[in-house]
Amino acid sequence: MQTFYDYLLIGGGIIGASTALQLKQRFPSARILLLEKEAGAARHQTGHNSGVIHAGVYYAPGSLKARFCREGAEATVAFCERHKIPYRRCGKLLVATSPLEVERMEALAERCRQNEIEVELLSAAELKAAEPNIAGLGALRVAATGIVDYQKVTDALLAEFTALGGEVLFSAVVTALYEDENSIEVVYGGERIRGGFLISCAGLMADRVLEMLGIEADFRIVPFRGEYYQLPPAYNDIVSHLIYPIPDPELPFLGVHLTRMIDGSVTVGPNAVVGWKREGYGRFNFSLRDSWENLSYPGFWRVMRTHLRSGLCEMKNSLWKRGYLELVRKYCPQLALTDLRPYPAGIRAQAVTSDGSLVHDFLFAESPRSLHVCNAPSPAATSALPIGAYICDKVEQRQS
Ligand SMILES: Cc1cc2nc3c(=O)[nH]c(=O)nc-3n(C[C@H](O)[C@H](O)[C@H](O)COP(=O)(O)OP(=O)(O)OC[C@H]3O[C@@H](n4cnc5c(N)ncnc54)[C@H](O)[C@@H]3O)c2cc1C
Repeated sequence: MQTFYDYLLIGGGIIGASTALQLKQRFPSARILLLEKEAGAARHQTGHNSGVIHAGVYYAPGSLKARFCREGAEATVAFCERHKIPYRRCGKLLVATSPLEVERMEALAERCRQNEIEVELLSAAELKAAEPNIAGLGALRVAATGIVDYQKVTDALLAEFTALGGEVLFSAVVTALYEDENSIEVVYGGERIRGGFLISCAGLMADRVLEMLGIEADFRIVPFRGEYYQLPPAYNDIVSHLIYPIPDPELPFLGVHLTRMIDGSVTVGPNAVVGWKREGYGRFNFSLRDSWENLSYPGFWRVMRTHLRSGLCEMKNSLWKRGYLELVRKYCPQLALTDLRPYPAGIRAQAVTSDGSLVHDFLFAESPRSLHVCNAPSPAATSALPIGAYICDKVEQRQS
């Protein structure tokens, strides 16, 4: 007889892991299975990111991102304490290097106040005193920002989930889904299993899982590569905070930053260039299917048109290391070309609507027997615990 699960989850990234654990905590006697197509957890976005515990500086007041990021930063730290996962609250400086950026920095400080995040404005002299290797006209200091290894957090979430009796199946690629009034059927690697409710946390494949159920949603995932470099070990103490540029409010990504990693190294990046293979990490990786899905989508062309200048600039700097270097030399002038060492890239799953808007907030879709995380870009690693709690609330509401 076919095994029946109360809840089935797709995706062993941090969102799937957080949701699985919290579901099991809320429904201890429920049978819950998480299916992950790779041989281990966190092989995609969760295992290829900057490892920053964001405080929530940038997000529109009232948005899910603003709320979940603030709550998530606290929850992540508490989880790390409980599981003895190394983390550090090193703080972050957003450095202004022109009068326009000083204006933008002041607007960001106001946004932080609206989001109830404590910040401090530093003058050029105070910046120099705090970070002797960083140059700028001033900076915004966010003390609550921290660093962690999200692979370790995900492993700990899944270890707790399985210790409570939850099940995880790796190397299980979900290829088809069938939903009827009473249950949902999942097909993976020639096997079929049934469940009462499905939760999809499929990251870069979110839209494809949605399509398997024929759920209409006005978005497509467009992959944006985030390319990094690493500084030589001699520079491990070049900064004591994370150093970010002041972002252009018109652009969705944060700009190339200097990140102290929890292993002690310092990375430079990430940039943001269109990817031609959703899960292809090499610079020239290409997939016919993924590229066709970009090119045949009107929303893709509209995004390209809106962000033509910045997109071309990102592409140029991706191919021309000196251009990339100049982005970081704006605030850290002592770095040279030879200081940029190779480091693995990450790929962001960014939902884009057909009118060419980049979806900024976290986005979910539902059917009678399923719930889908459609858009969970940065700071979703920081926000994974509140996102999981939100999904569990939705599941609980359906049952009451
Ligand atoms: C370059 C970069 C830097 C970032 N920096 C930060 C940061 O510093 N701080 C922060 O908070 N956030 C950051 N983020 C964002 C953060 O990493 C992601 O938002 C978060 O990891 C998303 O988690 P997820 O579980 O939704 O997705 P993922 O980690 O991508 O997991 C999705 C999982 O679903 C699986 N899957 C997909 N389809 C199927 C299928 N058909 N069958 C079975 N399994 C399937 C995949 O194999 C994958 O393991 C960054 C992201 C990138 C790319």
